[in-house]
Amino acid sequence: MKGLVYRGPGQKALEEIPDPQIEQPTDAVVKILRTTICGSDLHILKGDVPTVKPGTVLGHEGVGVIEAVGPAVSTFKKGDHVLISCISSCGRCDYCKRGMYSHCSVAGWMLGHTIHGTQAEYVRIPFADTSLHRIPDGMDEEALVMLSDILPTGFECGVLNGKVQPGSSVAIVGAGPVGLAALLTAQFYSPAEIIMIDLDDNRLEVARTFGATQTVNSGRENAVERVKALTGGIGVDTAIEAVGIPATFVLCQDIVAPGGTIANVGVHGAKADLHLERLWAHNITLTTRLVDTVTTPMLLKTVQAKKLDPRKLITHRFALADILDAYKTFEDAAHTKALKVIIG
Ligand code: NAD
Ligand code: ZN
Repeated sequence: MKGLVYRGPGQKALEEIPDPQIEQPTDAVVKILRTTICGSDLHILKGDVPTVKPGTVLGHEGVGVIEAVGPAVSTFKKGDHVLISCISSCGRCDYCKRGMYSHCSVAGWMLGHTIHGTQAEYVRIPFADTSLHRIPDGMDEEALVMLSDILPTGFECGVLNGKVQPGSSVAIVGAGPVGLAALLTAQFYSPAEIIMIDLDDNRLEVARTFGATQTVNSGRENAVERVKALTGGIGVDTAIEAVGIPATFVLCQDIVAPGGTIANVGVHGAKADLHLERLWAHNITLTTRLVDTVTTPMLLKTVQAKKLDPRKLITHRFALADILDAYKTFEDAAHTKALKVIIG
């Protein structure tokens, strides 16, 4: 089959590689119908994620059809349409029982990181019973592909950790796909204000159409002053960091109100400045989290009930054969206005 293989920092290739096989009784092999490119793939390609070894097939969002199952898989059979969680987990260990699937002590494998991923014709899914979700008949698969990672990331790490409440004020720093996913899912809780902060006017415009009440271009405006002016001088109840650089982590500390919460979603390769004394004095809660995809089933029902439409995030579509062009489009988002690029 064809798959997009990471070949070390700065290098990737669409290669002919062996078809995945059932290796364990709990495995399934899934034929990929749709996958995506994620910001994390670009981090890996820069060499920022040393746990990803050269030779790994990239990609961690996907929907597909079951091609084969091992003898111990009881929930799925050949031909079932499934949504693939970016985390493969056993479902039975102490961490899994607490919903901390990404810390599963038996597996806890992330597709396209520690095991081969979805940017290929087929993928092997360990612990299929607990790592796949059935797609109800007639549902548009493309609408669900982002429930593998970015929707639960924005929701779990940003909105739930950030304790977004009805009538509260929220600032989301970073209007990339993850920040926009937080914007879409924050609205489940009817906050009064959602202020979106970014450097990119196009993404801020998208955020407006997705329901942001205010947008701030922090490249042109003093974001701290704007947020304070919009919140009666006190700052926001929830500041969601969805960029992953020191400056935006500091910005979150500058705009959160006393008693508020900073929900850090961004992956900070470098050290970030933590003004612990100030956070202590203002009763600030700081949360971090690796996505667990524990909310993927409830997000699936929300999409099914037409209360959430992740398709809004899709800007481009490519065939697997053209995945290198898809990467160029995604990497050049400033010009191409790419948000989510779908493969398949
Ligand atoms: P992205 O790079 O597409 O988006 C980041 C956005 O931040 C862009 O719109 C960019 O214009 C904006 N930005 C950059 N510098 C800025 C600045 N100084 N001020 C304001 N805005 C700025 O990334 P993404 O795919 O949306 O992901 C966002 C973060 O979430 C990344 O760090 C990613 O690694 C992380 N992530 C975390 C988890 C998790 O489990 N916690 C899972 C997936 C992704
Ligand atoms: Zn487990």
